[in-house]
Amino acid sequence: MYNKQQLMEMIKNENSNIEFSKPKNVTSERWNNYLQVFISGIQQNFIKFINCQTILAWKPSHGTNVMEKHDKGCKNVSSPLNMQQSIKSYRSTNNENDQRLIRSIKRKLTNTIAVCCACDDLTFSSVKSDGFCVLVQDLVEAGR
Ligand SMILES: [Zn+2]
Repeated sequence: MYNKQQLMEMIKNENSNIEFSKPKNVTSERWNNYLQVFISGIQQNFIKFINCQTILAWKPSHGTNVMEKHDKGCKNVSSPLNMQQSIKSYRSTNNENDQRLIRSIKRKLTNTIAVCCACDDLTFSSVKSDGFCVLVQDLVEAGR
């Protein structure tokens, strides 16, 4: 078994022995957003939250408690609908205001992401990944 630090290191180095997949015999909808970590085909006591890429310690005996807790704590990317609404409600027809607004939303998003990193014990490099950038881009586009 690997510990979290070893795991994070392997993920960072894009170690090809790491795989993420849904465990067998799980039925809860919570699993739609989570994948279990496998190393060289062996189940690890960790899961990954797909939306924010956070790694959480998890054992089958934990059930979905871990996910429930993280879903609550992670307001950042777990509810794109709310984010979309708040961007729309601030929207203005004035161009100069729009520019100011976009800057303030960007600042706000940066703060939120930093908070998510802190609360989830993430490195900043994990939110610089291409996939994450695409996600953020899509969220911003969706709000327009
Ligand atoms: Zn999170």
